[in-house]
Amino acid sequence: MSRVLMVASEAAPFCKTGGLADVMGALPPALRQAGEDVAVVLPGYTGIKLPAPAREVWRDLPVRVGPHRFRTDVYEVQQREVPYYIVDSPALYGRPGIYGDASGDFIDNHIRFAALSIAALQIVRFLFRPDVIHCHDWQASLTPVYLRSVFDGDPTFLGIRTLLTIHNLGYQGRFGGWFLSELGLGLDVFHRDGLEYFGDIDFLKGGIAYSDAVNTVSPNYAREIQTPEFGFGLDGFLRSRAAKVTGILNGVDYSEWSPESDPHIPSHYSAADLSGKRECKRALLEEMGLPLNLDRPLIGIVSRFAFQKGFDLVEEIAAELAAEDLALVVLGSGEPRFEQSFRHFASTRPDRFAVRIGYDEGLSHRIEAGSDMFLMPSRYEPCGLNQIYSLRYGTVPIVRATGGLDDTIEEGTGFKFWDYAGWALLGAVRAALEAYANQLRWREMVRRCMAKDFSWNVSAEAYKALFARLSR
Ligand code: ADP
Repeated sequence: MSRVLMVASEAAPFCKTGGLADVMGALPPALRQAGEDVAVVLPGYTGIKLPAPAREVWRDLPVRVGPHRFRTDVYEVQQREVPYYIVDSPALYGRPGIYGDASGDFIDNHIRFAALSIAALQIVRFLFRPDVIHCHDWQASLTPVYLRSVFDGDPTFLGIRTLLTIHNLGYQGRFGGWFLSELGLGLDVFHRDGLEYFGDIDFLKGGIAYSDAVNTVSPNYAREIQTPEFGFGLDGFLRSRAAKVTGILNGVDYSEWSPESDPHIPSHYSAADLSGKRECKRALLEEMGLPLNLDRPLIGIVSRFAFQKGFDLVEEIAAELAAEDLALVVLGSGEPRFEQSFRHFASTRPDRFAVRIGYDEGLSHRIEAGSDMFLMPSRYEPCGLNQIYSLRYGTVPIVRATGGLDDTIEEGTGFKFWDYAGWALLGAVRAALEAYANQLRWREMVRRCMAKDFSWNVSAEAYKALFARLSR
């Protein structure tokens, strides 16, 4: 049994912008079930949704970052037997928004997340002493940096090991080198083997440099990030540290995502009885204002509209898609360019395309349940969760064979394309439409998808083994 303290900037259902939150909501309880002693450190943003009243467990935690001192209290809330320590520091997190607001990223994010690491280390000192500190993404990446520099030699931390999980290498937390002293760091860590990146401070690079182990959220992505195409400038650095880099596929939380019990969908169904899925499709077409043609294949998209997600390919083949006998429903938000494109498709072909711009938990479930196919044409995808949810909902994924998409979808449970090109995507869509035309075979495929099991307990065992190896 290991004691593990996780540090992250999001966790479902408290605060979420993407897959990281899903992992932080599900992995800790799964580890707890597997016998590990786990706790989580999370910022107490304004508007954070706590499931139960939080209990104050520490008043005035000493959180100092360089010249700053932040008034900080710690609250504890339990979720599925895991304590989540909520770092309540109004000057840092007392504003709406996790990373930013309408005018962009908060300008003090380097301080906000450096403070998260300091708070985590003070929680180690006063509240929860782990064998392993498990940091997630750049927002938690200064934890090992402080541990191996500022806090080096402090007997409190003796023997504690660190693991960094990279959920997305595209976000590294890069800031001007002049912030070094404001972060309370010195030249001992600011060099090419540390957190320096061509004169800048790179939080994630620091995390990679000073963690005892590093993993990504799928085996394939762990290999890809060591190549120039997917390395975002850190591929060489990662290659030089390849011995400590591994991949562990994310699981999914079937208590949240199962068509048998999902409270968000109008009709429940299972592989044995798919009639409810047709009802979900009817309701979804109605909700999205599309013609109630139940025999026409319906493709769903739920996503952040980011460069990573490959929607420029959808733009490229919009005319061809409109000429096919299909309908498309889209839920997402992000880059204005893609919001505009999808709005434009919907307004020019309201009989085929429907789009909802925004973030909508309930609708994301209804799209999973009501669609026949689910589209993820990602440029890169560290793991991807929606294609795995789709499998469980019998919604056949059409994916680009990259990262976790390639690891989770195989022949017989989806349609893949390899080249990052519109014609390749179109080929995969057409293959799916052709398969759909034979309903008997299609239903077989749907059942094969639904039988796939990506529960967290498999991944939890892999993390457990990694913790054991680290703390040996
Ligand atoms: P990423 O973390 O890169 O955004 P993932 O596939 O790992 O991608 O996870 C995305 C998660 O966020 C899924 O749970 C998905 O349902 C959810 N999601 C993304 N966009 C929306 C949206 N507009 N409304 C509701 N949920 C969304």
